[in-house]
Amino acid sequence: MTAPAKLPLGSSLSEFALIESYFKQGALAMAQTARVATNELTTIALGIGDDCALLQTNGSEILAISTDMLLEGRHFLPGANAQWLGHKALAVNLSDLAAMGAKPLAFTLALALPASDTVWLNNFSTGLFQLATQFNCHLIGGDTTSGPLTMSITIIGSVGNHQALRRAGAKLGDDIWVSGCVGDARLALGALRKEWSISDLALAEVLPRMHLPTPRIDLGLGLRSLASAAIDISDGLLGDLRHLLRASHLGAVLELAALPISATLANQPEIIRWQCAAAGGDDYELCFTAAAEKRDQITVLSQTLSLPLTRIGYTTISTEAKIELIDSQGQALDANKTANLLRSFDHFD
Ligand code: ADP
Ligand code: MG
Repeated sequence: MTAPAKLPLGSSLSEFALIESYFKQGALAMAQTARVATNELTTIALGIGDDCALLQTNGSEILAISTDMLLEGRHFLPGANAQWLGHKALAVNLSDLAAMGAKPLAFTLALALPASDTVWLNNFSTGLFQLATQFNCHLIGGDTTSGPLTMSITIIGSVGNHQALRRAGAKLGDDIWVSGCVGDARLALGALRKEWSISDLALAEVLPRMHLPTPRIDLGLGLRSLASAAIDISDGLLGDLRHLLRASHLGAVLELAALPISATLANQPEIIRWQCAAAGGDDYELCFTAAAEKRDQITVLSQTLSLPLTRIGYTTISTEAKIELIDSQGQALDANKTANLLRSFDHFD
């Protein structure tokens, strides 16, 4: 496929512009002109642009499929603990199933290894299968090659007809919720990268949030009948919420001080606190929208799962997915001072 006419060859694009221009447009063009990727058994119900693609089978279930990869030096530091990597490689993929309200079924694993190091492989596979067993998600294939340390998992889950949680679907005036607490993974990363210094005790408290994220599968299943839209927080709460808002053609008002943070993050200076909570990636919590009438049921779900669910704002009219940040008195925060919070992680920035 050639580059779209409007883009000068050799120009540099953001991660999401790149996907949109070269892959989403190509896939849409192919669906219009080529033999449609459909047979009497399976249809593409949802293509590029959500946490998972959805394949409609002729049964009562839809298949949810997603791919996420981890690269040494990009997603994890050289020398990272192999058992934690095994966990994280699968956890980030399970998180995309959670965001769609899908139940895990199976996954494939593509692995590039600099050397066939049996100690590393033993530890990696231990972390991988511990989490796979916890979620009854089966390894069904993959590929292995020598090369710079990289792991890529494609995961498959299932969700009932019309039950998938999409990014599109939020309604005007819906509440915006977030699970667990946000920002600890970014606090740990910043400390390891020496962007800021935190105590050894604080680092010990937040490191597991960075290395061993918990995919919110049970929450996704519980939200099937409650949420109007959902996304998982991989690149930063505000940036990921923006993807949801863009897909739903809405904006949002968010109370910054309402963002749920751990006691460890609450002890950090204000600037670090909000940067980590609002813009820090790697939390793998779910951000979702729901009608105000669902509040009581969502509170019950939170109690059942022993997982805090916090209402952080509501959706508004906006054609540009605008997010307005307010203080606890409802006053708008200075947009210049909060502009950096609205930028989420982009691999090509
Ligand atoms: P997530 O963070 O939920 O894994 P991403 O932000 O990585 O999602 O990707 C956004 C969307 O773009 C997803 O629907 C994903 O499947 C799609 N996507 C990303 N890279 C590619 C690619 N190289 N080809 C086709 N689709 C892609
Ligand atoms: Mg996602």
